[in-house]
Amino acid sequence: MRHAWYLEEVSEKKNREWTTSEKMAIYTMRLKNFSASDIALKYRASISQVYNVVRLVRKGLKNECYMCGEPLTKKELLENKKSFIKACTKCRKKSSDYKKEIRKRAEDAHLCIYCVERPAIPGHKSCPNCISLTHRRRYAKGLCGQCGKRPIGKTKLALCEPCAKETKIKASIRRGNHE
Ligand SMILES: [Zn+2]
Ligand SMILES: [Zn+2]
Ligand SMILES: [Zn+2]
Repeated sequence: MRHAWYLEEVSEKKNREWTTSEKMAIYTMRLKNFSASDIALKYRASISQVYNVVRLVRKGLKNECYMCGEPLTKKELLENKKSFIKACTKCRKKSSDYKKEIRKRAEDAHLCIYCVERPAIPGHKSCPNCISLTHRRRYAKGLCGQCGKRPIGKTKLALCEPCAKETKIKASIRRGNHE
């Protein structure tokens, strides 16, 4: 019997993404001496997530790289203008290379590229826990996870044929063997 992962309820994500205003609000609450556990309760996060956000925002406000703590150059500051958690060029390059490497290894091992823990759903890159809600809804309707317009094609991926083709071309360019 096929496992209907897409009909299950979505559990809360471990690595939650904070919006800029949430980050700022958490930081401000800590400045006003709210306890980390109260904030965690309010935002349904863990205490360590709260401490983490506060630490990142503090460094960002001081214009320091959140990874190595080095002050950012003027050029780097301009590049980091939009995000208020800032990273220096060196650290950013390092972490994006690292992430790419991890994702690639996970993909080769058929593991979820987000948590790198659970097996990926066949034809997808993520596990039932990490797959996005949009993707899940589309899949439940038999639609392509990428464009959400065309039905899933006869490829191994849960994508329509044009999207699957595009994905394959992109992957091959990434690997550097596209002519
Ligand atoms: Zn750095
Ligand atoms: Zn996962
Ligand atoms: Zn599509």
